[in-house]
Amino acid sequence: MSKSNIACKYRLYPTVEQKTMFAKTFGCCRKVYNLMPDDKIAYYREHKKNKIFTPAMYKETYPFLKEADSLALANEQMHLQTAFKNFFQRKDIGYPKYKSKKYDFDSYTTNNVNSNIRIVHRTIRLPKVGEVRAKIHREPADNCILKSVTVSRERDGTYYASVLYEYEDTVKPMAKPITHIGFDYTANGLYMDSNGDSCAMPKFYRDAEARLARKQRKLSKKIKESNNWFKQKRRLAKLARQISNQRKDFLHKRSAEITNRYDLVSAESLNMKAISQHLRLGKSTMDNGYGMFCTMLAYKQKKKGHLFIKIDRYYPSSQLCSCGYQNPITKDLSVRTVTCPKCGKVYDRDVNAAINIDRKGMEMCMS
Ligand SMILES: [Zn+2]
Repeated sequence: MSKSNIACKYRLYPTVEQKTMFAKTFGCCRKVYNLMPDDKIAYYREHKKNKIFTPAMYKETYPFLKEADSLALANEQMHLQTAFKNFFQRKDIGYPKYKSKKYDFDSYTTNNVNSNIRIVHRTIRLPKVGEVRAKIHREPADNCILKSVTVSRERDGTYYASVLYEYEDTVKPMAKPITHIGFDYTANGLYMDSNGDSCAMPKFYRDAEARLARKQRKLSKKIKESNNWFKQKRRLAKLARQISNQRKDFLHKRSAEITNRYDLVSAESLNMKAISQHLRLGKSTMDNGYGMFCTMLAYKQKKKGHLFIKIDRYYPSSQLCSCGYQNPITKDLSVRTVTCPKCGKVYDRDVNAAINIDRKGMEMCMS
């Protein structure tokens, strides 16, 4: 049986002492992370050999490291190894960067060993820190095993614990779907479905995004690294977090509704065309709702034993008419309604694409 992961992010309300402990651990993690690469390189230059540096080697020189959660330090070593591996294997990734106190937001990851991490009532028990008050808005299912926790201090000064759970997929996927739907990405909104219903992000969300852009402009006018600049940066971070939560909340609800109703969901994979459209609208691909929406649909469908199929971007979803004719004209994105030169049917480009995606998904399931 295969295993899956699920993460829950909880807001933390640490006491003053706990905040100090967090700050110490963030600092220690940054310290070992920044020490290890230099020593690794220096050793290699001198001995022409690789040597693995571990956080424990530094505890004598820097006794304060003993105060920090040792698993958190060990995870820094792992992160650094990954960063080095990527650096050696991929040309597009640079040499591991130092962690800066000013620019990198604080976080550390610790693992659950012998139940040293527990969620009890309204607290999360963490090694070296103790029970931290938390808003446990969501409880994991009984078959979930707590694997690790990432504690973070966001730029606006709030604390979070991102808890990673592992569970076994006990739900068998269904053999034959009965209810099915297809989704096509739309640049101006979120998606168009095969029933002809389109969905965009709600207005309050778009308003908040406009507010964020205004705050961003204000920041760019301030002197970099001045007090006011940092203040504005914190305000910006707070709003960005709120917007990100709103987006997640909306998409969670939408995807849950769909998962409850449909056995099979087929969706157009987010292609380069879509991404470039997104960028043209002045948005980063990071805040692309459609991509997040598909990710949520995929794991929610899987969890229920339902099906999710990603339709390849090379499938000519928007060019096929129901009569089977492939219409090359519809490659032009500005054309919204299309008349089929063969059968004369008039259809909406996006709805037609969604219908074709749905049909293709069904076809793939049946074969
Ligand atoms: Zn036709």
